[in-house]
Amino acid sequence: MTALVLDGKALAERMRADISAKIAQLPYRPGLAVVIVGDDPASAVYVRNKERAARESGIAARTIALPATTPESALLALIADLNADPATDGILVQLPLPAHIRAQRVIEAIDPAKDVDGFHPINAGYLALGLPALVPCTPRGVMRLLAEAGTRLAGARAAVLGRSAIVGRPVAALLTAADATVTLLHSRTRDIAAECRCAEIVIAAVGRAEMVRGDWIAPEAVVIDVGINRGVDGKLRGDVAFAECAAKASAITKVPGGVGPMTIAYLLENTLEAAARRRLTAMG
Ligand code: NAP
Repeated sequence: MTALVLDGKALAERMRADISAKIAQLPYRPGLAVVIVGDDPASAVYVRNKERAARESGIAARTIALPATTPESALLALIADLNADPATDGILVQLPLPAHIRAQRVIEAIDPAKDVDGFHPINAGYLALGLPALVPCTPRGVMRLLAEAGTRLAGARAAVLGRSAIVGRPVAALLTAADATVTLLHSRTRDIAAECRCAEIVIAAVGRAEMVRGDWIAPEAVVIDVGINRGVDGKLRGDVAFAECAAKASAITKVPGGVGPMTIAYLLENTLEAAARRRLTAMG
C-alpha cells in the first residue's frame, strides 16, 4: 500500500492562522521571551524561526541573546526577572546550553506557569500523572499528527523509540493518557525491530538517520518521524527510512515538513495557553 503522507507544514500553517485569529480577539498581547546563550548556529536558526513565528501570530516576542561566557548565576538572575515580569507569559531557554551551565538547574528556575517548553519537573510530573500541564511542543505536534491521520489510539499498541525528557517520555505519557498500550524503546532494548513490528503506531525519536527500516513496520501502521539528522551532504534526514516504511505504513510523516513545523505551532499555542491561565489565576 502507499501511505498517506501527513503534511505537518500545511497543518502547522492552518494552526498558526487560527492562533493569530484568536490573539487578534484578545484584550491583551501574550508575551514570549526566548533566551539563547552562546553562538551555536543551529540554535540561532531555531530561535530566529521561533521569534519570527511568534511575532507573525501577534505574540510580543523578544529574543535575549547572551554570550557563551555568561555565568550560570547571571542566567538564573535573568530568569528570575522574567518570572517576575507581568508582560512575560512564556519563557523559553534554547538548549543546549554551554557546558559550564547546568541545564536542569536553569529549567527548574523557570516559573512552571511560564514554562512554554513544558520541561519543568512540575509540568513533566503533572503530565506523567495525566493531569493538566504545559506539555512539550514536539510531543503535542506528534499527537496532533496522529489525530490528523484519524489514528485510533485507545487500545492501540504504540512503540516509542527514544526516552528523552523532551520527546520520548512525554510522547509515551500522552499516548498512555489516550489509552494506547505503550512500549518505550531505547539504546538498551534487546530487539528494537521486533518490538516495532508488534506496533500499530511507531514514533521515532532517536537521532539516528534512517534507523527504522521497512521490515520493522507492521502493515498499515502509522509512523511519525521526529528525528532531524543532518548528513555530511548537508541534507536533513529523519530517523525513518521513508520510502521503505511508506510502502508498509497507512500514514507517515516526512523530514523535513512533518513534525518540525508542528513544534513551532505548539510553542505559539502553549504561549497563548500560559497567558490565558495566568490571567485566570490572577483573577482567582
Ligand atoms: P536524545 O536526548 O539524544 O535521546 C535519544 C534517545 O534515543 C535516547 O533515549 C536513546 O537511548 C535513544 N537511542 C539512541 N540511539 C539508539 C539506538 N541505536 N537504539 C535505540 N535507541 C537509541 O534525543 P531527543 O532530544 O529526544 O531527539 C531525538 C531526535 O528528535 C533528534 O534527531 C532530534 O534532533 C529530533 N528532535 C526533533 C524535534 C522537532 O521539532 N522535529 C524536536 C526535538 C528533537 P538511551 O536513553 O538509552 O540513551
